[in-house]
Amino acid sequence: MTETATVVELAKRRGYFFQSSRAYGGVSGFYTYGPQGAALKENIEDTWRERFTLKEGNFEVDAPIVMPEPVFEASGHLDGFDDMLVECPECHASHRADHIIEDNTGIEEAESLPIPEVENLLAEHELTCPNCGADLAGQAIEEFNLMFQTSIGPGSSQPGYLRPETAQGIFVEFPQLKEYARNQLPFGVTQIGPAYRNEISPRKSLLRLREFTQAELELFIDPEEDEPALDVVRDVEAPLYSAEMQESDDGEPVTMAIGDAVDEGIISDAWVAYYLGLAKQWYTRIGIDMEKFRFRQHLPGELAHYAADCWDAEALVDGDWIELAGFANRGDYDLSKHGSYSDEDFTLFKQYDEPKHVERATVDPDMSYLGPEFGGAAADIGEALQTLAERDRSAFDGDSVEVEVDGEAYEIPSEHVNFEVSEETEAGEHIVPHVIEPSFGVDRALYTVVHHAYREDEVEGEERSYLALKPEVAPTFVGVFPLTSKDGLPETAQSVATELRERGLSVAYDDSGSIGRRYRRQDEVGTPFCVTLDADPEGTATIRERDSTEQVRVDLDELADVLTALRTGERTFDTL
Ligand code: ATP
Repeated sequence: MTETATVVELAKRRGYFFQSSRAYGGVSGFYTYGPQGAALKENIEDTWRERFTLKEGNFEVDAPIVMPEPVFEASGHLDGFDDMLVECPECHASHRADHIIEDNTGIEEAESLPIPEVENLLAEHELTCPNCGADLAGQAIEEFNLMFQTSIGPGSSQPGYLRPETAQGIFVEFPQLKEYARNQLPFGVTQIGPAYRNEISPRKSLLRLREFTQAELELFIDPEEDEPALDVVRDVEAPLYSAEMQESDDGEPVTMAIGDAVDEGIISDAWVAYYLGLAKQWYTRIGIDMEKFRFRQHLPGELAHYAADCWDAEALVDGDWIELAGFANRGDYDLSKHGSYSDEDFTLFKQYDEPKHVERATVDPDMSYLGPEFGGAAADIGEALQTLAERDRSAFDGDSVEVEVDGEAYEIPSEHVNFEVSEETEAGEHIVPHVIEPSFGVDRALYTVVHHAYREDEVEGEERSYLALKPEVAPTFVGVFPLTSKDGLPETAQSVATELRERGLSVAYDDSGSIGRRYRRQDEVGTPFCVTLDADPEGTATIRERDSTEQVRVDLDELADVLTALRTGERTFDTL
């Protein structure tokens, strides 16, 4: 079995995750988290919340999943959120053309290539349907929009869409959110929740889902004033795979301190660098293997048109690099778009340190002249005069002014224009904040954590497989077992389990089968510690550590305190 097949089998058997709706044949791209998986997911989300919301002083929101069509007209998703669909002429299976190219040629990031080029590549490389092997040369590629559409209310007059990213639920509420931030930049808003994409070919278990969970942070900044606290992450070492390294023949990622990478211009945006540093620490904390991790810069052709620099966090899973998260400076793209498509104010008033004196050029056209003279065009001429005054004052120097409306030139005598330059005092200006966006996929993080935690070894001559999950995220923290069913041990063990649960620990009580079998079960689930109650000496129990399988004996009175300290990381097992 491949590593992936082994992990996916274990995940299903031990209650981590499995394909949904199996009773009705299952449907690709939808997964259910079982008891262990749901708890692991929640623990991962809690650590993210602790790091990216609480510790950063940001605030979290919870927006609806269904949003009306105008939101996605403004965001660009309605027009541009497409993947390249190619259908097999024989078996009619749908595939992503760019993925077929990437999987079968040395070409990377085929997603950024134009469609005609992708069609040519399919023919040139004689690529075939992964399902039935039919030739795909000559097949037309279609642009397939990834959003799930629905109707809001009865009838179809109000189309809605399931959000394809959590971010839009933050952007559209900016006019309200800025009030909560008392109109002060920078401020950050986070959201953890489901996002939906009608992926053409969901694959690799949790890696490409149609419903998945994102944890996103939108930081609103004044690009001219705000700077990150780079010192917090200056010394964080991270493997960086810049565009230049990727493009050179023998390019390999280089591990370096975030601060040095900024100083050397490898990461050009200090805000992006700041979040790469935090992300490296967070991924380490939840148990991603740093030997199988890197930050990869987007290649020029991959960059979204509004992003100046963008990096992805990537992990190696069973031989493939997968994207875990994206980090981008999105400029003023999102707020400007919503500002121009909606009637709300997506700007923020920025007070100057000192009021500024400015000259303002205005016109006050004489409509009693323009109306009779130019008829229906009069109002547009008035507007054109004002625009011209703001742009080019010298146009008003002569006896008449010329403006163009709908391709036609109009000449207006200066005495009917009333051009004036006046001095005004301004306290500040309206600016459109820029957005820094770290966007994390929770499912891909969870999947990678489980993959990277999978281990096989031998214990007392027997093969064992286990998940070396970090105690902080492990879904079950401690197994509690009575050694035998005699001497009141089950009752004592039950009361220990109850006490530990009351202390907020996640406990699995197990009294069936040999003690070795019980240990193996918890090892496979990834439970870091097991407590066994025996009668000798009374008032004590053993704590066994999963990875080393070593045991220490502790007094029952101290058990809950010791385990709590192990959970929070205040103590390590070696110090017991
Ligand atoms: P990909 O190129 O793999 O489709 P993306 O660049 O479109 O991903 P983003 O829009 O940047 O992804 O979304 C942010 C994060 O959300 C990704 O890094 C990933 O972890 C997660 N994500 C995106 N699409 C999916 C999906 N279909 N299934 C699971 N997670 C996803």
